[in-house]
Order: sequence, then structure tokens, then C-alpha cells
Amino acid sequence: MIYFDNSATTFVSDAVRTEIIKLTEDQVSANPGSLHKLGNKAAETYEGIRRETASLLGAKSDEIFFTSCATESANTAIKGYMSRNKRAGNAVISTRTEHKATLECLEYLSKLGYEIRYVKVGPDGKPVIDSLEEELNKGGVALACFTLVNNETGSILPFDQILKTIKALSPSTAIYLDCVQALGKMHIDLSSIGADMCSFSGHKIHSVKGNGVLYVRKGVRIDPLILGGGQQDGMRSGTQSAVLAGAFLAALREVSSGIDEARAKAAEINAYLRKELSARDCMILSPDDALPYVLNVSFKGFESETMLHCLEIYDIFVSTVSACSSKAKKVSYVLLESGVDRKVAANAVRLSFSRYNTMEEAVEFIKCVDAIYDQFLVK
Ligand code: PLP
Repeated sequence: MIYFDNSATTFVSDAVRTEIIKLTEDQVSANPGSLHKLGNKAAETYEGIRRETASLLGAKSDEIFFTSCATESANTAIKGYMSRNKRAGNAVISTRTEHKATLECLEYLSKLGYEIRYVKVGPDGKPVIDSLEEELNKGGVALACFTLVNNETGSILPFDQILKTIKALSPSTAIYLDCVQALGKMHIDLSSIGADMCSFSGHKIHSVKGNGVLYVRKGVRIDPLILGGGQQDGMRSGTQSAVLAGAFLAALREVSSGIDEARAKAAEINAYLRKELSARDCMILSPDDALPYVLNVSFKGFESETMLHCLEIYDIFVSTVSACSSKAKKVSYVLLESGVDRKVAANAVRLSFSRYNTMEEAVEFIKCVDAIYDQFLVK
């Protein structure tokens, strides 16, 4: 099997499995809120996990909140910020190439009467700075929402430049940054990144599904999304799960080491596939300077879904548009917004790698593509 669908989700690593077993071995895994000694022990375990997670991300312990997924983190950050900071302004800026977790929150806010201003993106998927300046100069921007690495193309946000522009033109604007596809693939240090809120997802870094993280910089006030018993400093009610938080941490520990080496290996695989696929008349849609873990490619003569199923015959797994919206059989809105021709976008397939993919798999992939062209292309 060749699994090139790591931006959709990743397999669960041995370290995560081991940690989950360890954390479930106690006969009673007590409620961290219970006052007895078992409760105290559970609370200690949980807070230890939180401290180490924060430390690996460069944050303080009380800036980190465990959620069920990055979608929940995005909802909490975006809706929570706008709900709590009503006097900060009525506008939010973003792009139309964000993940649905962001776009649907913005749609919700627009129904509540907020003004959503979309910054144009260029053919490389990056926000156009002139357009960003224009939207900021209109004033009243409470929040800016961007994604560090686009999940469909691997386009890397020029965040330093965006941050500089926002700080220069609208210093009070808060920034939410989706770091889901960047975690473990780029160095992230929350103490210096300059964003006010960030989201992360466990299942994209070899944890199980059901765990995410929200970072909220100290001093930034947001309303919680989930109300109840006031757990996690009132930010996210619901009994804390040391098992899920521990699974996230075990995955984070693993992907926090060897980031540069893993990226160099992904870059080699990516360069090989770019070269081989271009020689076969395929069109590479990921920008040249994209993160090498994602390669979006349009296969001549095959619609996206047809190619996906042809590859599946060879036990190769890829995505068409983002897995979160692919059931709707749509052409990728990310590609269309970046100016890709609809017919080209209709043939787009996303290959996405993890640190565990190999060059041998890439070579085998090309052999299978050749076999598919020989067998199935209608000439
Ligand atoms: N943001 C990006 C860029 C993603 O790729 C994803 C998942 O596809 C999400 C957010 C949502 O993550 P989760 O599945 O943890 O809700």
C-alpha cells in the first residue's frame, strides 16, 4: 500500500498507541475534577501533559487548551474572539482559500451582521499584499484569519510580511492562524510567532482522531464555545481526557524532532515526482515554493475522481479536493480562487506525504501512473 493522503489524516504511530495504553492502564482513571486522591492524581497527569505540550510549542501552560479537533479550535477562536471583543471592530479579514473550518465560521459571523472582507490571493495561493493593505485601510478590522500552510496546495503563507502589514496599518487587529498542516513540518515557536490564536490537530501528526489544541496568547480574551463545568480555566468545559491529550503529546514529541531532515526527505520525493509527472504532461498546481509535503497535480485526460479510483486499484491512496469537502464532488475552490482553469482543476489530485513516506514509494507511484495511462486513457 502507498499512502499519499497524509494531509487528510495520518496513521497512528507506535508511540501514540503505547502512550494510550499506558494512560488507560490504571484501574480507575479518575475525573481530574474529583477531590479525592485519585482525582488529584488524574489532574496532575493532565496538567503535566498540558505543560509539556505547551513547552514543545513554545507556549505557556495556561495558553494551551485541549479540544476535540482543529475545527473546534477554529470555531472557539474565531467566534469566541468576535463575541468577546465587540468594540474591537465589525470587520474580519481573511481569504477565500481558507479551510472550511474557518470559512464556515466567517459565514456564520456574516449572518450575525459582521462584515467579512476577503483579501485576493495570487496564482501562488498567497494573499496579495496590496489587497490586504486595501482591506485594512478601510478600518474597523477586529480579526484577521489566515492559514500557515494550505492543505490543498502546500502554499506557505508569508506570515512575517502579513504580520508586518497588519501591525503597521491596524495594530489592534487580532490574528488567528491555522497551523494544522504546518505542525511537525515547519518550526513553530508560539512565543515569537506573533499570532494571538492558533489551531492544531492531532490526527494530522499521527495521533488518533478526537484531539486538537487551541492556543490563546496570554492577555487575549475570548468567549468559550463550550459551556459547562468550567474545566480548562472555563475555556473549554467537559471532563478532560488525559488519554486524548496524552495521545496528542506523544505525537507532538515525535514530530518535533528531526523536522529539517524529514523536510529534506519530503523535498527529494516531491522534486522527483514533479519532474516525472511534468514529463508525462501532467500540470503541477502546487507553487514551486510550497511545503514539499503537498503536491497538487492535474492529470491530463483523467478527472480527479477517476484518477483517484484508478490509483486505488494499485493500493495507492490520494485525495481529490480536501477530504472535508470531497464527498460533495466539487472542483477545488482553493484552486479556482488561485486562478487555476476549471478544466485543469477538475483533474487535480492531491498527493500528501508524511515523514514516513519513502522514495521507493514515489518510484512505484510513477510506475503505476504509467500503467494507468497505458490501460485506461481513452485516446
Ligand atoms: N485546517 C486545515 C488546514 C486542515 O487541513 C484541517 C483538516 O483537514 C482542519 C483545519 C480541520 O482539522 P480537524 O480535522 O482536526 O478538525
